[in-house]
Amino acid sequence: MPSDWTFVSVDMELTNQCGSECLMCPRDAITRQEGMMSEDVFNTVSAKLIREGSLITFSGMGDPLSHPKVFEWIADIRKKNGDVGIVINPASLHERISQRLIESRPNSITISFPSIHKEIFEKLCPTITFEDALKRTQELVDLSRENAGVRIAGIKTDINSDESEQFAGFWNELDIRADMTICHGRGGNLKDSDIYGPKAFGLDSEMCGLFQFHTFVTWEADVLACCHDLTGATSIGNLVNDTVSVIAERKQNTLKDSMPFPVCRQCDEPLRYYPSPQGPPPKSRKERIRFFRSISREKISL
Ligand code: SF4
Ligand code: SF4
Repeated sequence: MPSDWTFVSVDMELTNQCGSECLMCPRDAITRQEGMMSEDVFNTVSAKLIREGSLITFSGMGDPLSHPKVFEWIADIRKKNGDVGIVINPASLHERISQRLIESRPNSITISFPSIHKEIFEKLCPTITFEDALKRTQELVDLSRENAGVRIAGIKTDINSDESEQFAGFWNELDIRADMTICHGRGGNLKDSDIYGPKAFGLDSEMCGLFQFHTFVTWEADVLACCHDLTGATSIGNLVNDTVSVIAERKQNTLKDSMPFPVCRQCDEPLRYYPSPQGPPPKSRKERIRFFRSISREKISL
C-alpha cells in the first residue's frame, strides 16, 4: 500500500480522445496534445504504481475503451496483483466489448449514466439513445455478476437537480449500486451551459481534498493537478522520468500553501472540500475500500 496519501488513488488517462459529445464535458477546450498512451509509457508507469500499491483507474477526459490495448493492460495489472478500475460510457459498449472487458477482470467498472429520464439523458449524451444505453448497461451488468463490482454514476445538473432518490431506486431495483454526483465546472472549463451554473467557484477554499489523496497521470505520463487541467499548465512531473516519491514530495510541498494553480481558482469540484485525511494512508485493500466508501460527494456542501 502507498506510503503517502497522494498515491492512494491514481487516474490514468489512456487517451484524451473520445467520440462522444456529452454536454457536461468540456473536452472541446483541451489544448494539450491529444493522443494515446504508448506501450513503453504504460509499462513504466504501471510498474511504478503497482509497486506503490496505488488503486489505478483508467479514466480522464477521454474514452479508455477506445484504446486498443485497454483489455490487455487491465489483465496485465491484475496478473501483477495490482488493482485497476475503469470509468466507461455506454456509447462505447457493445456485446463483444463488454465480454472482453469482463474477461480482463477489472476490480471495478463505473458506468457513467447521467439520468434515468430519456429526455434528459439524450440531451446530456446526444450520441446514443436512452434505450440503447440502458440495454448495453444491463448486458454489461449481467455479464459482470460476481466478476467485477459495477457502479452506475449519475450526474445532477440544473435540469435534473431533484433526481437523486428516483435514480438510486431505479438502479437498486435492478440490484445495481448507483449514486449521483453534482455537475461542476471542471475547473471553470464548462462554459456557456444551460445545464450548469457555477457554484461557490472554490474561492472560499484555498485547499483541495482531491489533490491530497488522488493523482492524475496523462497519456504522456505527465502528472497534472487533476484532469480538469486541459492545457497541461499544472505539470508536477512525469512518471516516466520521476519516481513516485519525488512526485509525492512535490505534491506535499504544494499542499503546505494554498493551491497555486490558476485552474483551482475557478474550480467548484465538490471533492476539493473534502477534509484532509487524518493519520497514515490505508494499510490494506480493505482499509482503502472503507476510506473511499466514506467519501460521499452528496454530503459535501457547496
Ligand atoms: S464525459 Fe466522457 S464519454 Fe462524454 S465526451 Fe467527455 S470523455 Fe467522452
Ligand atoms: S482545486 Fe479543482 S482544479 Fe485544483 S486540483 Fe483540485 S480539483 Fe483540480
